[in-house]
Amino acid sequence: MICLGIEGTAHSIGVGIIQERKGTCQVLSNKIKTYQPEKGGIHPREAANHHAAKIAGLIHESVRVTTIDFSDIDLISFSQGPGLGPCLRTAATAARALALTIEKPLIGVNHCVAHLEIGRGTVRECTDPVLLYVSGANTQVIAFAEKKYRVFGETLDIGIGNCLDKFGRALGLEFPCGPKIEQLAAKGSQYLPLPYSIKGMDIAFSGLLTASENYVKKGKNLEDVCFSMQETTFAMLTEVTERAMAHTEKQEVLLGGGVASNKRLREMVQTMALNRGAKFFVPTRDLCIDNGAMIAWLGLLMYQSGCRMSIDNSLINQRFRTDMVEVTWRD
Ligand code: AMP
Ligand code: MG
Repeated sequence: MICLGIEGTAHSIGVGIIQERKGTCQVLSNKIKTYQPEKGGIHPREAANHHAAKIAGLIHESVRVTTIDFSDIDLISFSQGPGLGPCLRTAATAARALALTIEKPLIGVNHCVAHLEIGRGTVRECTDPVLLYVSGANTQVIAFAEKKYRVFGETLDIGIGNCLDKFGRALGLEFPCGPKIEQLAAKGSQYLPLPYSIKGMDIAFSGLLTASENYVKKGKNLEDVCFSMQETTFAMLTEVTERAMAHTEKQEVLLGGGVASNKRLREMVQTMALNRGAKFFVPTRDLCIDNGAMIAWLGLLMYQSGCRMSIDNSLINQRFRTDMVEVTWRD
């Protein structure tokens, strides 16, 4: 079975094609274009305009780079939520139009669950992980328990990526700021104390963001501030992930989202996993960031396990929670 998936929850529009063969997931193509704001953060309407301008070309390109034809596609899937309304609507409209044109079924999928399933689908040995999902807007610790994907911990305010981007923007760095902060942090050495905010299993970043900005205003060494931000935020993420692993007794941890590219975060989570005798996995970068292939794979799993969606029922849901998904494709 072959599925074409369209991702469009935030700043990226992506089209991926996945083929399933005897239960294995093969990525045939995965094309992504990212909206770059001229200044400031993501403006939802401008991001949606960007996606609308790029989507037709991306669909054609993602088919062209494979050996298949439009007639070989069995299913169309799209990111139904959570995300920015205008972006979601643009991707969903394109998916509906394509499904109607090639006369194939349509299915909407949860973006956060897709991040986890693409890890299970493409990373060998990854079968039942705790996912630490760290992106711009989202920060969640997700695992399968009692027939659903459940959120064991999450941010109470902004996502970790947004925290890094906001800090970077105040310094005049270009979006996305995470990679630049990583470079600066690698040269820092002195740890400056920052608020370590864990409440139960949840995390908050805004106090730490303000405190970091204040350090810069007071003339502290920027490399040290970046180093301290990374050490503190990543320690909080690692702690919550470890507690979710202990609670669920899972032996695998998977990273997902754009911030999963960060070497220091990988190192900290990997060290925690190894100390517990657990396995650590990260998908390739193009499958970690927001991408169409993960949307295609989850759509395919859902369809094969009996899920169906009519065009009338394909409305987007900006607040589509991870645990609202009926998991029909695994026990
Ligand atoms: P996503 O929302 O999943 O597409 O991820 C985008 C976010 O990842 C942005 O906030 C980036 O700043 C962040 N990001 C990308 N690369 C890195 C990195 N190497 N270290 C930290 N954050 C990163
Ligand atoms: Mg994402």
